[in-house]
Amino acid sequence: MSLPQFYDPGDLVGVLTTQPLGRALDYRAPEGGCHLGAFVEVPLGPRKVIGVVWGAGKGDYDLSKIRSVIRVLDAAPMRAEMRSFLERAADYTLTPMPAMLRLATRAPGLGDPPSMRKIYRRGPGEPDKMTAARRKVLDALSAYGDLAFTLKELAEMAGVGPSVVKGLVAQGAVAEEDSPRDLPFARLDPDLPGKELTDEQTEGAAQLSHAVRSEKYGTTLLRGVTGSGKTEVYLEAVAAALRAGRQALVLLPEIALTAEFLTRVQERFGAKPAEWHSGATMTERRRIWRMVGQGKAQLVIGARSALFLPFQNLGLIVVDEEHDTSYKQEEGVLYNARDMAVLRASICGAQVVLASATPSLESWANAQAGKYNRLELTSRFGPAVMPEMRALDMRSEGLPSDRWVSEQLKTQVEARLAAGEQSLLFINRRGYAPITLCRACGHQIGCDDCDARMVEHRFLKRLVCHQCGETKPMPTICPSCDAEGRLAPVGPGVERLGEEAAALFPDARIATLSSDMYGSARALKAEIEGIAEGAADIIIGTQLVAKGHNFPKLTLVGVIDADLGLQGSDLRAAERTFQLMRQVAGRAGRAEKPGTALLQTYQPEHPVIRAILAGDEDRFWAAEAREREAAGVPPYGRMAGIILSGPDVAKVFDAGNLLARQDAPLRSIGAQVFGPAPAPIARVRGRHRVRLLVKAEKSAPLQDALARWVAQVPLKGDLRLAVDIDPQSFY
Ligand code: ADP
Ligand code: ZN
Repeated sequence: MSLPQFYDPGDLVGVLTTQPLGRALDYRAPEGGCHLGAFVEVPLGPRKVIGVVWGAGKGDYDLSKIRSVIRVLDAAPMRAEMRSFLERAADYTLTPMPAMLRLATRAPGLGDPPSMRKIYRRGPGEPDKMTAARRKVLDALSAYGDLAFTLKELAEMAGVGPSVVKGLVAQGAVAEEDSPRDLPFARLDPDLPGKELTDEQTEGAAQLSHAVRSEKYGTTLLRGVTGSGKTEVYLEAVAAALRAGRQALVLLPEIALTAEFLTRVQERFGAKPAEWHSGATMTERRRIWRMVGQGKAQLVIGARSALFLPFQNLGLIVVDEEHDTSYKQEEGVLYNARDMAVLRASICGAQVVLASATPSLESWANAQAGKYNRLELTSRFGPAVMPEMRALDMRSEGLPSDRWVSEQLKTQVEARLAAGEQSLLFINRRGYAPITLCRACGHQIGCDDCDARMVEHRFLKRLVCHQCGETKPMPTICPSCDAEGRLAPVGPGVERLGEEAAALFPDARIATLSSDMYGSARALKAEIEGIAEGAADIIIGTQLVAKGHNFPKLTLVGVIDADLGLQGSDLRAAERTFQLMRQVAGRAGRAEKPGTALLQTYQPEHPVIRAILAGDEDRFWAAEAREREAAGVPPYGRMAGIILSGPDVAKVFDAGNLLARQDAPLRSIGAQVFGPAPAPIARVRGRHRVRLLVKAEKSAPLQDALARWVAQVPLKGDLRLAVDIDPQSFY
């Protein structure tokens, strides 16, 4: 491997920092010089900031004023492919480079000196006097051979105070040494025996492993119903990458990163992989970032931001549940981790596996067009079969307005209770009730800062705005007419459904699962694991239960409001509903007993509901593809959303109108602009939001035109503009 280019002391270098400056700034290489890609500390005005040597300096700045790089940090230089990945990702998402670099430098303590800690092992000497406490320490050490421990670990193992250990150090019986704080991850062994695969799985694993061995870029769409063994198959591709001496990354939606999953990986490879997610501690994050960069972490299991870790030799990226909307980052840098995984892999000669039971239409279309390879697993593993699915026509149920569980569904749940099996009642709405209405004046309580209703969360005893997160105590008098005791909840949320279930099934153990009801992701995962082991008879849950968890005793899924996702103007409404319903239904009957999924609906003849029930996925995708193609929308056309926001609604609209008028750069590529119009949520956190939508043909050079177009509008004062390429959500 050739070393990156080197700059001698005093050479001009361009350093990109995470400060919003628009370009790399010139500095002089420090004493000792520096490599291209080196992480450095540089002076910026009165401050010191961290940056990366991005290339030679431009030399267009007063040479006498150029300052020197302060020091080179203790981290492997950023590789050329990573720099190229960041640049191309920035171009694609129209993100300024400093913001892009921030994603790649999320390592706590990056600027710290190499950090060491004291460790203790058996030394050559003997204690002058042996005491019981000293004996315990020496016994503990000899029990572990030549291993070394921290002071705290050793004292705890021996059941003595730290001063006993220190006393032994003074006599040379225990040796104290410095050791780097960040230790390599244990070696994974790809050659441990995996599960015995079925013929279909074996064939899939062989195809993926072959692709990985090619050491070339390629993407495979791995489609198979929930429980068909996709995970088993892609773990074989991971094994192939490890055998080839390359690193692998498995991306999962945050919530699917469960202990159950990690245990499976550990069983397959004999040791724990690195685990990168929002719950990881600073110490863990620093260790992972550094070890990945040194090639001493072979496999990372992570949420979307793991894509920006400094892999040394990445050979495989798996994107599990590739259709999942949480791969799209909706704040700050707006990127889709699935698309960025493909970009990153294409730059470093790696394979991508996109795994899903219900792929996104984008990926489906790419496979149809031959851009992606296809791999299908057609049957569930073992005796498990896909659940029987039926619609419950709510028009003939005549339920009172404050009840949501139909008679038919109730009967089915009772049958499961009698049989000792689990039921899941699914509603995709957090909180107790979506609307709080004053029965005296008709007022609905809204957020002060957003155009959104406040949602009652009875568990938290507060009203919560789901847009901005603002909360306030539940009032007792109407804020509009002062009437007392007339505020009433309208409509169901997961908490209210839990209450109804408790009334309907008084003897059942009921667990309500919603992301906001647990203090931490860990607590929530622990709860889910308990439930999987049978700690509840009825699970009441939002979409978080639809992802990646096995509930072996679950045989009934009741979807309370299958129509919920079909409303709204989102072009992906049908796709999302289809995916979510299939995923939720897939939770049932994953073990020996077959499952049933019942969809409560007021529109049983709606084409999407019918497609879900028919289970004819290809027909659904083909029909959906035809509609999108006719409308020229993604994935058959390109779109970008522009959101302008500011505190003064008139100014925001003025800017929007100005943009709409000056559309020459867009017209030059045949793109059309729609709007400005108030965004579907027209005010968030006190800022008025106006959106424009740009539509172009698939082959049009959209980013370049967009960049020229938005540059025409000066962003004065508080006005902000965000560009969202391939928007997923339309709020
Ligand atoms: P998917 O990822 O497609 O949902 P999984 O890989 O999680 O499917 O498999 C579903 C369940 O079946 C898991 O518990 C898994 O361990 C088991 N399983 C799948 N294939 C095999 C196999 N060949 N041998 C033993 N167990 C298997
Ligand atoms: Zn709000």
